[in-house]
Amino acid sequence: MATTKFDTKVLSILENKIQLINTNSGGIYLVGPIKLPVNLYGETVNFKWYCWLNCDEVTEDYEKIIAKLSSANLAEHQQSSVLVYGDFEYDENTLIRMHSICHTGDIFGSKRCDCGFQLKQSMKMVVENGSGAIFYLANHEGRGIGLFSKAMAYILQENGYDTIEANEQLGFADDSRNYDDAIRVLKALRQKPVTLITNNPRKLDALKNAGMPISGRKSLWGDVSQYNEKYLQTKVKRAGHLKEEEGNCNND
Ligand SMILES: [Zn+2]
Repeated sequence: MATTKFDTKVLSILENKIQLINTNSGGIYLVGPIKLPVNLYGETVNFKWYCWLNCDEVTEDYEKIIAKLSSANLAEHQQSSVLVYGDFEYDENTLIRMHSICHTGDIFGSKRCDCGFQLKQSMKMVVENGSGAIFYLANHEGRGIGLFSKAMAYILQENGYDTIEANEQLGFADDSRNYDDAIRVLKALRQKPVTLITNNPRKLDALKNAGMPISGRKSLWGDVSQYNEKYLQTKVKRAGHLKEEEGNCNND
């Protein structure tokens, strides 16, 4: 096995930006903040970006963790991250969003769902609020079934199944997403109460059950179109999403 010797300067730069969060089954290594200027609706907004990695090994000797990176094939497994804005740790009123990765919606701008719209809109809400954080959850594709299975589910949906039936027909629970790690990262970044941007009561419950103080909820109205209307209605009728305005509903 190749052993990498690091320049002591490299190590001292990186170790100041790494934080170890203990979990029941290992460690989360949170790296950041990293300056991330983002083009948001034509304006440049400066976010602080953090990324995290789960690892069985728990050590504060970060040289050991860094030494594993080049052979860990991390590109084969997407990592989650969080975009932070303003004084997230101490601001009295702050907003958070737990955003599930959506390859088709966020990247391609697919109109079969409203994820891309919700992502941009929640970033805008955070900036307008003055502080907040958007968690981008990499293992939540297709409500936790993965991209390939989501492609299969889309084919079933084109043949008469709704979004929930399609997942179930492929052997998945309707919603298998887990928020534990994201909540651990959230707690490392802020202890004061947060307002959650969501229409999904399960996300509220996940935070409450993890002991995170909640100061409120803000809904996020989606980009309703002929392509996603049925899908959005299913989320309200069958997945318990909170619908608050006439003619408007959405998924997250
Ligand atoms: Zn989507």
